[in-house]
Amino acid sequence: MDQSSREPALKADAFTQLRLLDLQEQDTRLGQLSHRRSHLPDAARLADLNVQLSRVDDEVVAAQTIASDLEREQDRAERDVATVVERMQRDQQLLDSGTIADPRQLQSLQAELESLVRRRSDLEDVELEIMERVDGASAAVAVLTQQRTDLAVERDEVAAAVAAQQSEIDAERAEVEQVRAQIAAELPADLLALYDKIRADHGGVGAAPLHRGSCQGCHLALPPNEIEEIRAAAVDAVLRCEECRRILVRTPESGL
Ligand SMILES: [Zn+2]
Repeated sequence: MDQSSREPALKADAFTQLRLLDLQEQDTRLGQLSHRRSHLPDAARLADLNVQLSRVDDEVVAAQTIASDLEREQDRAERDVATVVERMQRDQQLLDSGTIADPRQLQSLQAELESLVRRRSDLEDVELEIMERVDGASAAVAVLTQQRTDLAVERDEVAAAVAAQQSEIDAERAEVEQVRAQIAAELPADLLALYDKIRADHGGVGAAPLHRGSCQGCHLALPPNEIEEIRAAAVDAVLRCEECRRILVRTPESGL
């Protein structure tokens, strides 16, 4: 075993080595819990709802801008009509007062009145058209605002569900972490350090049982010469898989 000779040979009794497998079990559970926490289906839905909500928010603002622009346009059209009506009333009063005797002046005043009537009619058409557009824009704002309200309700529900799922996982994780800490406290520091280092470098698995001649870390069958070496090794020798370098723990099911 050339590779292992470069590292200090560790010794640990059989029971301690089996406890390392218990520790691995807790770490595997912690890894699964972390994965579950970061892959909650509702969290993906929540992110999607937040995107939709932000899009509808923008749409509401855009629709409100269109509506308020049209309302200003409507005000302007109303003022234009009022100005013409005032002018017509002034002209009509002047006509009715009988103070204008000059026929040419009278004719010109009547012509202006007729032109003002046409102008008022045109401006009222414009005003009517704008009012219809204001109604359409207000309806669009109402529809979008309702959509936003509905989405916000759904988002809040899903957010609450995600928070509940997360806190459930966190509670489970706290329990597992407690068990892990108890097991870790029983193990010698050098063995624990080696296990943690291998675990960090090998996808969360630092120790694996030898099961019927196969390493359960890399799931490869050990070659016969290696099995022979393991048979010959001392009970308290800490073994490593030649293939994956994980700590290989002998159990009654190892097939030795
Ligand atoms: Zn292996």
